[in-house]
Amino acid sequence: MNILVINCGSSSLKFQLINAENEKLIAKGLCERIGIEGSMISYTPDGGEKESREVPMENHTDAIRLVLEALTNEKTGVVKSLSEISAVGHRIVHGGEKFAQATIIDEEVLAAITECNDLAPLHNPANLIGINACKELMPETPMVAVFDTAFHQTMPDKAYMYGLPYEYYEKYKVRRYGFHGTSHAYVSKKAAEVLGKNYEDLKIIVCHLGNGASVSAVKNGQCVDTSMGLTPLEGLIMGTRSGDIDPAIIEFIAHKENKSIDEIMTVLNKKSGVLGLSDNLSSDFRDIEAGYIKGDEKAVLAMETFAYRVAKYIGSYTAAMNGVDVICFTAGVGENGPLVRRIICDNYLGYLGITLDEELNNKRGLDIAITTPDSKTTVMVIPTNEELAIARETYALVH
Ligand code: AMP
Repeated sequence: MNILVINCGSSSLKFQLINAENEKLIAKGLCERIGIEGSMISYTPDGGEKESREVPMENHTDAIRLVLEALTNEKTGVVKSLSEISAVGHRIVHGGEKFAQATIIDEEVLAAITECNDLAPLHNPANLIGINACKELMPETPMVAVFDTAFHQTMPDKAYMYGLPYEYYEKYKVRRYGFHGTSHAYVSKKAAEVLGKNYEDLKIIVCHLGNGASVSAVKNGQCVDTSMGLTPLEGLIMGTRSGDIDPAIIEFIAHKENKSIDEIMTVLNKKSGVLGLSDNLSSDFRDIEAGYIKGDEKAVLAMETFAYRVAKYIGSYTAAMNGVDVICFTAGVGENGPLVRRIICDNYLGYLGITLDEELNNKRGLDIAITTPDSKTTVMVIPTNEELAIARETYALVH
């Protein structure tokens, strides 16, 4: 059974076609600049050449039409007809409190996702456009919504409530939700599988360190805390997002710089994080790492502040779970940054009895433990695969 996985942003659309039985990737690609001049589609059949071309796309329906044409193309396509695509799995960023797991999309689910638009105004409307575009072109194909927030719905109220007037929770559902849930679930389960241990017996901390970054505490197979909050702005220092700050800074800077709340939010989301800390050197960790190695002061500051914040979250989640068995690193930086992992483990995690194996820490692309066998806590690198996780959840609901 082939599952098409769609991850729709406001002007982009990533897709993968996955064989759900053997979990092999069949084809993948990306539509960019949808609705903007210079729209591009790139498409790679597994084992084949990547092809990219500029082609006008007025909207997401145009983009999905091109994706389906590419997949069924006589020469470079991977399926003969759309009937060979059995279901579509959509990544949905915010499911609010309504969705604790993936669900088959019907009119009621669409209405409930729309109700969450206020909580994720940049993401959910784009996700909905993707669903509607697919429904238009493949009306008979079942669709499944897989939520970024769902895995974190097991958090207890003491972890998800803010110290704010209770009425804001009652009236507007202001609380912590957490994101990257599909990744945290996939990585924590995979870690248990690789170690040959029972998922339900472990205390796992997952550090998803990408351009967006979050940490989660997974105790006995359930998420008990995570670092992102009402929105993905809370928690770690990220590529361009500030993560945790004193909320009074917003008023302070607004007065000093004569900025509106919207302008300050743009600063916090797009101009802060390692980009801001490094005085605009880069939001890309490859540049920060290169600068750190050269001894560039601002790169050193950005790297050390980033690593310190991750280590503090690991410490607080160790307390939240009263211990930790496994710490996993994943996503762009977590998977590819041996230096970041070394700074975090060597400088701050000695109290957990962690000893890194330098050779294993320098390997890439493998699901492995990077600590020595006598290390009291196991540190692992587990490459995340959100698309496969979405395909699995979709398959589970439709077959
Ligand atoms: P993601 O959001 O998971 O795609 O991760 C993007 C981040 O991963 C960017 O900051 C990249 O710089 C970072 N990244 C990718 N490759 C490497 C690498 N080889 N070393 C360090 N960081 C990397």
